[in-house]
Amino acid sequence: MDGSSLPTVRSTCPYCGVGCGVLLTPDGDGGLAVRGDPEHPANYGRLCSKGTQLSQTVGLEDRFLAPRIADQDASWDQALDLVASKFSDAIAKHGPDSVAFYVSGQLLTEDYYVANKLMKGFIGSANIDTNSRLCMASSVAGHKRAFGSDTVPGTYEDMDLADLVVLTGSNLAWAHPVLYQRLLAAKKQRPKMKIVVIDPRRTASCEGADIHLALAPGSDVALFNGLLAAIYEAGAVDLGFVAHVDGFDTTLDAARADNPARTGLSTSELTEFYRLWIETEKVVTVYSQGVNQSSSGTDKVNAILNCHLATGRIGTPGCGPFSVTGQPNAMGGR
Ligand code: SF4
Repeated sequence: MDGSSLPTVRSTCPYCGVGCGVLLTPDGDGGLAVRGDPEHPANYGRLCSKGTQLSQTVGLEDRFLAPRIADQDASWDQALDLVASKFSDAIAKHGPDSVAFYVSGQLLTEDYYVANKLMKGFIGSANIDTNSRLCMASSVAGHKRAFGSDTVPGTYEDMDLADLVVLTGSNLAWAHPVLYQRLLAAKKQRPKMKIVVIDPRRTASCEGADIHLALAPGSDVALFNGLLAAIYEAGAVDLGFVAHVDGFDTTLDAARADNPARTGLSTSELTEFYRLWIETEKVVTVYSQGVNQSSSGTDKVNAILNCHLATGRIGTPGCGPFSVTGQPNAMGGR
């Protein structure tokens, strides 16, 4: 077939949570030309090396091209009937909670809807989960604790507009390369923007940062509790905003009882970071699996969110806590 007659398809790179838009053009010979979608708001045409190599993964060799039952090719009708009968048997014998779906963070939101409708609406069980909720469980629980819902109140545009971007538990340069390049491009345009990396390790993300705070592993809660206490002591609490927040006094008391020296950072490092955070109105705090994948991940998330709630730096352009995720539709799954 003449490849030039095959239409280009708009799609999404499946490899990480940046969710870059791609333009895919079949060459008519089993191959695929891949370009960044210049109109997609996540990447405006940029791709990292992983997205650029997408075409290497579409070959049909070594793939199952038909359902298999007992090591034999089978028709889709046979395969679906078998799965449906196994589900039906288990439900008839042991009830709806004897079955479960475990789905992926790469599905479209519409796919999640159909899968949830099938499990919850027709089978009658809540047994459906996604790997994206599992890896993001700390963020989910932290968001629900602080906001009452699992809501990410940030956009990529906020990172463009911020005057201070804090990367904590996030090696953005490797894990979300196109977003990191976007951040560096914004800093180049507005050199007054500061980037702080909080990570026990000196990662590639430190290359473009103004400050690297190599705190002791697991001490993030102490760092952000100390920030909340410093916000209060500097008179930087947004009282109008906090009037709409429950439990602020109790939270503040708990934060003030913590000891930021647990971070292992020097007093001058802590003082400089706290001063910069407090004096900069437009702050985005980006966090990722270095925060989430921890036995105290929910507390770390909550400690970050508390600082944004105390200052009302949330939900306005250039401000907010921002959980960046590992998969393109993690939030859809959650
Ligand atoms: S940054 Fe992520 S979504 Fe974008 S091209 Fe690279 S792997 Fe794909």
